[in-house]
Amino acid sequence: MEQINLSQMIDPFGRHVSYLRVSVTDRCDFRCHYCMAEDMTFLPKRDVLSLEELDRLCSAFIRKGVRKLRLTGGEPLVRRGILTLIENLGRHIESGQLDELTLTTNGSQLARFADQLVKFGIKRINVSLDTLDNKKFTHITRWGKLEKVLSGLDAAKQAGLKIKINTVALRDFNDDEIDSIIAWCGEQEFDLTLIETMPMGDIGGERADQYVPLSKVREKLEQTWTLTEIPYRSGGPARYVKIEETGRKLGLITPMTHNFCESCNRVRLTCTGTLYMCLGQDDATDLREPLRASEADELLESAIDEAIGRKPKGHDFVIERGKSGPAVNRHMSVTGG
Ligand code: SAM
Ligand code: SF4
Repeated sequence: MEQINLSQMIDPFGRHVSYLRVSVTDRCDFRCHYCMAEDMTFLPKRDVLSLEELDRLCSAFIRKGVRKLRLTGGEPLVRRGILTLIENLGRHIESGQLDELTLTTNGSQLARFADQLVKFGIKRINVSLDTLDNKKFTHITRWGKLEKVLSGLDAAKQAGLKIKINTVALRDFNDDEIDSIIAWCGEQEFDLTLIETMPMGDIGGERADQYVPLSKVREKLEQTWTLTEIPYRSGGPARYVKIEETGRKLGLITPMTHNFCESCNRVRLTCTGTLYMCLGQDDATDLREPLRASEADELLESAIDEAIGRKPKGHDFVIERGKSGPAVNRHMSVTGG
């Protein structure tokens, strides 16, 4: 049975919070249509926590029972000095206090960084990729180059990183391409997770135009692939099947069609030190003030306890045609997905 000591984070619904996702920057070198508007206003640098402050916050969460830490963004690998943060956080893996340090990235900087990521203790990463077509890739990211991501993936593979591809299913964009993405992942020995679009932040367009339920995508996939239910769970919202023909796992993240909140083990921290207890709710706690108020961590730790005591039961996402505005106002890049 899992050992839980009293300093650890248990929410009002008895869920043990053991997973922290940290958005280390809201900036990104892409502007994916479903994630950001073209003309984004990013945070002024003075509002963003320093790398030392991020380290101090992450370390407080690790003391309070976090076993898995994911760096995300915006694009985590465009934050200046990010490797120093990763190298320093690696000490918690060495000490055995942290089971996993990982990263979600768009892959654009992997060719430069893959070897060092491995050196600092990262074993696997998630890479977001929505299409294997050059033109479509540049369109969806607004200016990204597919080649660069593919060579980043090669470098990551060579360095020995395990890779999971994240693909957002988008109506009339890639819903006819999922079969070829599955086949490609099989050849490359990558797992794949499909994600439904979530109504987060104003993206200057109609979300309902992009949304395709994964139940529909799955029905179509079953005409080509044998999908076998497997009990594997990553402690998150994805349900997994095995694709018999490729032998790889396929995850399906369906926040809109399937409620996964009952097993939620995670909280999310932004690069300004705001803690969101649920991806789909606006309630949040500022941890920057208690962090900066004192060099000791008592104030910070009691602010964390107070926040965990307010973790809500679940999200209220709805995507309806004609419904004005997003379900939550912040963009996914603020909390990092
Ligand atoms: N830049 C990195 C990347 O793209 O992997 C990390 C941050 S990105 C916000 C994390 C994940 O959120 C990506 O897989 C992206 O596809 C997904 N995402 C962004 N906006 C989304 C939305 N509105 N609905 C569903 N997934 C979204
Ligand atoms: Fe950047 Fe990732 Fe958002 Fe795309 S999904 S704009 S790569 S943060």
